[in-house]
Amino acid sequence: MDGGAGVMVAAERDSVLLPGHDVPLGRYTTVRRLLPHRERRMVGAWCFVDHFGPDDVAGTPGMRIPPHPHTGLQTVTWLLEGEILHRDSLGNVTTARPGQLNIMTAGFGISHSEESPVDHPPVMHGLQLWAALPDATRNGPPAFSHHPELPVRRDGDATITVVAGEIAGERSPAQVHTPLVAAEIRLDGTARLPLEPDFEYGMLVLTGTADVGGTPLAPGVLLYLGTGRSDLVCAGEGRLFLLGGEPFDEPLVMWWNFVGRTHEEIAQARLDWMGGVRFGHVTGFDGGALPAPPMPTTRLKARDRHGRTLG
Ligand code: MN
Repeated sequence: MDGGAGVMVAAERDSVLLPGHDVPLGRYTTVRRLLPHRERRMVGAWCFVDHFGPDDVAGTPGMRIPPHPHTGLQTVTWLLEGEILHRDSLGNVTTARPGQLNIMTAGFGISHSEESPVDHPPVMHGLQLWAALPDATRNGPPAFSHHPELPVRRDGDATITVVAGEIAGERSPAQVHTPLVAAEIRLDGTARLPLEPDFEYGMLVLTGTADVGGTPLAPGVLLYLGTGRSDLVCAGEGRLFLLGGEPFDEPLVMWWNFVGRTHEEIAQARLDWMGGVRFGHVTGFDGGALPAPPMPTTRLKARDRHGRTLG
């Protein structure tokens, strides 16, 4: 981007509404999947966005996601309401609560389970995000961090919680591997959010409604905002979530819970999971691990962030 008025025209042309679709997850949970989308695979390194709830889980088991593996990504769990108990193959057992960040780095391989605690709050509402790791670190060691305190900044009529990366001069303590941002915005009027022109952005509404850069937005839709913006005016009442980052140039193969670069890598990760190696073991979950689905009969193809296949 070269700055100036042309950039804003380009940015407006880039702005597009991407409706999510419902996906059943485990036996008791249905999520709204906002990324990847056919027309837009990624926002920065963010390659996966699930919005779940608000669901009434009183008197039900709530979330029950058995042990399953990941490669090549970081997961971010962000709750507005409810609690999720995380167990992983590194031995971490942590309860995620609203306003706190759980971030897990899969690297070469990790496994985890996610469940509502036995005594859980009546409502569950939140996000799960994946950020693709760049080639330089994607085969590194797995890690998990719980961040109970995050920077919060008041800006206009917005209260901004910096979940990952940096915005408005505030930086999250979470370690990330590419220039990116994730922030929750509580809006009770009008605010002008400062943006990085080199980043592309996406905004979703979790509760309420808002006008975001001239586009009316409600839950269930991701507004892709492109690059070339130095700020974004938001007006309304509700809780919004901003995703952004430098456009991610590496084509990805995403299949099941794996992010890789080739069909062979994904096939190997599946074999390793089914063979009980590489991903460690989750202890304490009441139930068996998730088996991987069969590989598709055709070769998995790498796609760039626009969804274009590369042979
Ligand atoms: Mn997972």
